[in-house]
Amino acid sequence: MSVGLRIPPKLPAAAEAYAEAGIKVFRVRRNKTPYANCPRCDRQSSLYVKHRPEECRCGVPTCHGFWAATTDITLIRRWWREEPDANIGAPCKLNGWAVVDIDPRNGGRASYEALEKRVGVLPGTTMQLTAGGGLHMLYCSPDFDLPGLGGPGIDFKHNGYILLAPSVNFSGARYQWAGDGAFIAPTVSWPESLLPRKQRRQLPPARATPRHRFPTQDRRGQRPGGGRLWTVADLVQHVMDSHEGNRNNAFFFASCRAHELAAQNLIGLAEAEVGLLSAASAVGLTDSEARASFESASTRPSDRRWVA
Ligand SMILES: [Zn+2]
Ligand SMILES: [Zn+2]
Repeated sequence: MSVGLRIPPKLPAAAEAYAEAGIKVFRVRRNKTPYANCPRCDRQSSLYVKHRPEECRCGVPTCHGFWAATTDITLIRRWWREEPDANIGAPCKLNGWAVVDIDPRNGGRASYEALEKRVGVLPGTTMQLTAGGGLHMLYCSPDFDLPGLGGPGIDFKHNGYILLAPSVNFSGARYQWAGDGAFIAPTVSWPESLLPRKQRRQLPPARATPRHRFPTQDRRGQRPGGGRLWTVADLVQHVMDSHEGNRNNAFFFASCRAHELAAQNLIGLAEAEVGLLSAASAVGLTDSEARASFESASTRPSDRRWVA
């Protein structure tokens, strides 16, 4: 039985509380602009030394955004003494989390309903109410990268980070853990039905813990554990429903899905191409960018690194 972690109402004390519980945190400015990298880590600087953020040895504790996240109490005290109003960021993957992020301002509620129709109700887990009226569902991180986009207004956050309660947005609204406001470390596995198709098939039976799987559906057109398969019409709809800032992502996501399904002879690629290109044109993508995107989606999607 997990006991919830009481979160102090003030940001500096809350940051310490998370760190003491083993959660890596870092400062995020109110306006979300990042803390500067040192010149050796700044790609724009003439002193820049080429390196991967996760392999940084510069020793400056704020470089590379969430890669700076730490449980070092001394450092955390210093950060929040300098900036008592800084929000608390937590990288998802580095903390062993993968997060379903539902943003109702971008159509997340409808997408979530559509998602549940497709894959069933998501397993209950640690939830956070976001300052913007949205919802975070925290699951244990799977061993591989996830597609960043679950639909318009739904992100699968894995490589990225989330803000933690009591972080505050520009209008003064705060993040808050659902229930009694205490934080409970997630123990529920990332839903198997939300895994990229390739990884789902590769999971050895022993790893698929029955407790967290969706009930088997055997109606026609349904697959065990995975809900209904996408049809060309669904893919077209996904593009048509995409939010303005998200059209390219939505189109690319649908194109990857189309190639995956076509490779398994579940849909016709030519039919999908015609449908998706006309959807692209309907939502304002140019024909040439849509064609290029559809082509680039043809390399095996699960081999690509998706950005959360
Ligand atoms: Zn640096
Ligand atoms: Zn660096």
